[in-house]
Amino acid sequence: MKRFTADWPEQAEKAYAFIPEQGKSFFTYPIIQRPKGKREFDVVVIGGGPNGLTAAAYLARAGLRVVITDRRNELGGGVATEELRKPGYRHNTHAVYMPMVDYAPAYKDLDLERHQLEHIFPEVQVAMSFADGSSMCIYNDLEKTCKSISQYSKKDADTYREFFKRAQVMMDEFIAPSTYVQPMPAFDQLGKLNHPRL
Ligand SMILES: Cc1cc2nc3c(=O)[nH]c(=O)nc-3n(C[C@H](O)[C@H](O)[C@H](O)COP(=O)(O)OP(=O)(O)OC[C@H]3O[C@@H](n4cnc5c(N)ncnc54)[C@H](O)[C@@H]3O)c2cc1C
Repeated sequence: MKRFTADWPEQAEKAYAFIPEQGKSFFTYPIIQRPKGKREFDVVVIGGGPNGLTAAAYLARAGLRVVITDRRNELGGGVATEELRKPGYRHNTHAVYMPMVDYAPAYKDLDLERHQLEHIFPEVQVAMSFADGSSMCIYNDLEKTCKSISQYSKKDADTYREFFKRAQVMMDEFIAPSTYVQPMPAFDQLGKLNHPRL
């Protein structure tokens, strides 16, 4: 925790020292900075969650002087990653899955990867462990997932494979193309249901 407190104003650091050790684990590192004299802004964004950050980035790119304020000491809102329990162990506090994040136009528009945003897609996406020590895993590889399910039921594994293939078509044909664009008229959508792989 110490390395994150280096830039705290003296007053905040003293207050932090009084928090019992147990309570300290609930505090994240602060983004508080010492006041740097009078500053003027065109826009004050209240709340540094993903939507506030995105709006602020576009406004700043348009040439406005923007400041983001947040009532917490950490930016990111519902998609923050924080060091809450053990030093060095960082985890998501709310959002845990980002399945379509790279579909968002802002992702490429703001060139987030050039700014060190990196998404990690673990081989095991979801796992369920059982009292007898066995486990079932959803991998990002369909056949590995089916193999895991077939430990318990070959029929369920085959059903999952079929479901996955249909869901993939739904994703490619309906969900992904309908995201971040104007809705397609209902009758045009109905026509798509005749897809041969559905
Ligand atoms: C339990 C949970 C699980 C979720 N899981 C997922 C998931 O897995 N995948 C996914 O994509 N999405 C998930 N979401 C949704 C995602 O977190 C939200 O869609 C996203 O955070 C909304 O962004 P936002 O910027 O509108 O608001 P928020 O992220 O809520 O940000 C609002 C910010 O404003 C600040 N604020 C509020 N009031 C004030 C004030 N008066 N003054 C100053 N600052 C203020 C807050 O501190 C916060 O930082 C989850 C949400 C929750 C609650």
